[in-house]
Amino acid sequence: MNKVLKKPVPGLAAAAASQARPSRAEAEEAVRTLIRWAGDEPDREGLIGTPERVVRAYEEFFAGYADDPREILARTFEETDGYDEMVVLRDIRLESYCEHHIVPIIGKAHVGYLPAHRVVGISKLARVVEAYAKRLQIQEKMTAQIANCIQEVLEPRGVAVVIEAAHQCMTTRGIRKPGVAMVTSRMLGAFRDDASTRREFLAMIGRGGAGGYA
Ligand SMILES: [Zn+2]
Repeated sequence: MNKVLKKPVPGLAAAAASQARPSRAEAEEAVRTLIRWAGDEPDREGLIGTPERVVRAYEEFFAGYADDPREILARTFEETDGYDEMVVLRDIRLESYCEHHIVPIIGKAHVGYLPAHRVVGISKLARVVEAYAKRLQIQEKMTAQIANCIQEVLEPRGVAVVIEAAHQCMTTRGIRKPGVAMVTSRMLGAFRDDASTRREFLAMIGRGGAGGYA
């Protein structure tokens, strides 16, 4: 297979070029196309500035691509006076975008870990959530990515991530089921192996009782 790739392949340069980031003008033109597809006229007064605004909004919605979550967690504190109890950040506001329909996924994330020798500033946990959320996502993958990143960089005794979120692709189109939240979780280390640790975490995020799912 590699031998084949070494020969100049017609169309390969064009394929590579099509993967390059489009210009702002190309992105705005794509928005104009979608406006026409929706059935409206991009040149009418109310819509004239819309492609530019949508492209700017995309820069905010998808800011996570510019972040390196591992980098965010890189600065840790080792002087913890032996603190080895659970650290939990709950109710982190989460705004993501479904990769199948590019509509919002809105909800909250709860993140916990059991420090082994390092802790991070708590705002860093929220920033890791944000770095993965501000991308085209599916909730299951995002949940796993957040947990795996914390596990790999901090090397704690365990990590727990629970995300509960409503998917606008489900509430405003398709089967139209408002009020439905999807809950995903990823438990690593002690949270996976030890039921009492898991229960403690779920109680701390308010999911420990009969309404919980432990
Ligand atoms: Zn969707």
